Amino acid sequence: MNQDMHQKVKTTHLKRNAYLYIRQSTLRQVFENSESTKRQYALRQKAVALGWPEDRIIVLDSDLGQSGASAADREGFQRLVTEVSLGRAGIVLGLEVSRLARNSADWHRLLEICALTNALILDEDGIYDPAHFNDRLLLGLKGTMSEAELHVLRARLHGGILNKARRGELVISPPVGLSYNSEAALVLDPDKQVQQCLCLLFETFRSTGSAMATVKAFQKQGLQFPRRVRTGAHKGDLVWAALGHTQVLRILHNPRYAGAFVYGRSHVRKTVDGSFTVVQLSQDEWETLIPGAYPGYLSWEDYQQNQKRLHESAQAMGSDRRKSPAREGPALLQGLILCGRCGQRMTVRYHVRHGRLWPEYLCQREGIEHAQPLCQRVPGGGIDEAIGELLVEAVSPVALEVALTVQQELQSRLEEADRLRQKQVERAQYEVDLARRRYMRVDPDNRLVADSLEAEWNSKLRTLTETQQNRERQREQDRKVLSDQQRAAILSLATDFPRLWRDPNTPDRERKRMIRLLLEDVTLVRGEEITLHIRFKGGATKTLMVPAPLNAWQQRATNPAVVKEIDRLLDHHTYQQIASILNERGLRSGEGKTFSVRIVARIQKRYGLMPRYDRLRKAGMLTVKEMASLLGITPQWVKIWNRHGLICGHTCNDKNDCLYEHPGDNPPRKAQGVKLSQRRLASEVVSQRTQEVQCEAATDCERPCELAGFRCLSQPKLHRLQTLHLG
Ligand SMILES: [Zn+2]
Repeated sequence: MNQDMHQKVKTTHLKRNAYLYIRQSTLRQVFENSESTKRQYALRQKAVALGWPEDRIIVLDSDLGQSGASAADREGFQRLVTEVSLGRAGIVLGLEVSRLARNSADWHRLLEICALTNALILDEDGIYDPAHFNDRLLLGLKGTMSEAELHVLRARLHGGILNKARRGELVISPPVGLSYNSEAALVLDPDKQVQQCLCLLFETFRSTGSAMATVKAFQKQGLQFPRRVRTGAHKGDLVWAALGHTQVLRILHNPRYAGAFVYGRSHVRKTVDGSFTVVQLSQDEWETLIPGAYPGYLSWEDYQQNQKRLHESAQAMGSDRRKSPAREGPALLQGLILCGRCGQRMTVRYHVRHGRLWPEYLCQREGIEHAQPLCQRVPGGGIDEAIGELLVEAVSPVALEVALTVQQELQSRLEEADRLRQKQVERAQYEVDLARRRYMRVDPDNRLVADSLEAEWNSKLRTLTETQQNRERQREQDRKVLSDQQRAAILSLATDFPRLWRDPNTPDRERKRMIRLLLEDVTLVRGEEITLHIRFKGGATKTLMVPAPLNAWQQRATNPAVVKEIDRLLDHHTYQQIASILNERGLRSGEGKTFSVRIVARIQKRYGLMPRYDRLRKAGMLTVKEMASLLGITPQWVKIWNRHGLICGHTCNDKNDCLYEHPGDNPPRKAQGVKLSQRRLASEVVSQRTQEVQCEAATDCERPCELAGFRCLSQPKLHRLQTLHLG
């Protein structure tokens, strides 16, 4: 072996340095396992025996106390790799492969570099040339074994812990308020003051629903909260200090207060740079969870409820402002609204119109994400009103009951706080007594000790007085607050929830908070109408329909009934007549204007109604020219005959142009010398058929008198006069 070793070492190796790498995993090993350290340093002699001069053997021992599980943070190892890769190393010495690296990746990288730069590796068993396949295979195996060794060690240790945890028997240092009794069972802390403080914390959170409000309540009451010292000389001691927000959160999130045994609520992950991050796991990923394993401060259901509330209040949770806290804007359903089409949370956008903010609910998340049109947008005004009405309706009968319960609860909480302060006084008194007894017991001649004990006694007495005064002051305040403001506020709330709701002085934020106490969420679907599916707290549901608000052009569109009426009136009237009739009935255009010829004409064109001319032609009426050629007279005579009632004409426009009814089988003929006024009487019998038709039309119309064709026939002059008058 020795011969073999010497064969591998060439002069090229000896010209370069020898690096002795020394490492112990922990500082404890460095101190206690000194034999191993000594053996590592002894390798130096081997290098000397192989021919390296003393001054060329470089010892790298800066990694003492560093684990070999990773190269990161191991300054010595990094330097070793650098030296090797620069070709300065002839040989690398280490007691075992595991000293160099417990991580295969690090180890194989070192082997690769050693092979490239022709450096040797020496351990307790022999000398290897990584450039040779056999040596490299052996070293590789050793590295893998070393990594496996670490894994097996860990698995054994962790397996034991896991097994115990699965049975719920693992002893984990308890949070403040819980402690192990003499039978190693977890129980509520026997210190009544500690117990009551925790009870008050959970109670306050239950009624306020906010960790911040809980902290404020404690601060306002001047109450202190226990905390257990975790490290240092005073480890395990109980100290009293003001309650903090993180402390409240930690307590509320800790399932052990609900009497559950838990293990493995987080995972430790290694990052690329070798550091570790703690990842909190969700409840269904916890390693062990045994609810009801021991007595707790709250039930498991209450704990779950608290988690839900905390999650909802957390602003940062979720990217879609899920259940975001109530803000100042007037959109009442902010943070509560779901899209009925895709199920996403809807967001709020405001428009300023006439100096007022108008909310609009948008489902835009997918649209933004994938550059698509918005899923749906719903103007919020009508919806908010409907919700408000619903709440007023739903809440008013129970308002008084709720308010009374609130009052009762406030009272009981004040008393509870006072009891706690009383405990603080008792504790101070106990400490005074203790200090007094200590002082009494000391030998009066021992002035030094006696003086310091006396000083302590005095200080305890001062604390006692302060605590007592503090309690008295707070009691005085409690009495005052409840008697004046609170009672008035509660009574006013109790008498009239609807009044409070509708009061313009009530800020929108408060209104939203009230909504949140009552509603879980609202799902919106916009169709012909807007459908609201409302979920109340506690599971009740209700569906409301709200008319979809009209958009700008819809708001200006003519009422369909008016369009229909114009269609009907066109059978018998001109534009001018129609405008007069509609105005007389008090009807207005879509824009709220009185009707004019132009508006009626526009409506006729826009809605594709048949023009009056076409209607008359369709009914078989003849033009002036056609009539003239039929009767064998000039167009002027047609008009004159019409005026005198010999033939029947109907005005087709506001210029007084007429179309004429067919004169029938027996048309009037030219008869010179007979007065036209006499001829009319004869022709009335002829046009009997037409009169009947006109009579029907006349009864249809609300103003049958002057405009119907019937009268028009008999009193054409009157008709013309009235047309002029109406114009
Ligand atoms: Zn949507």
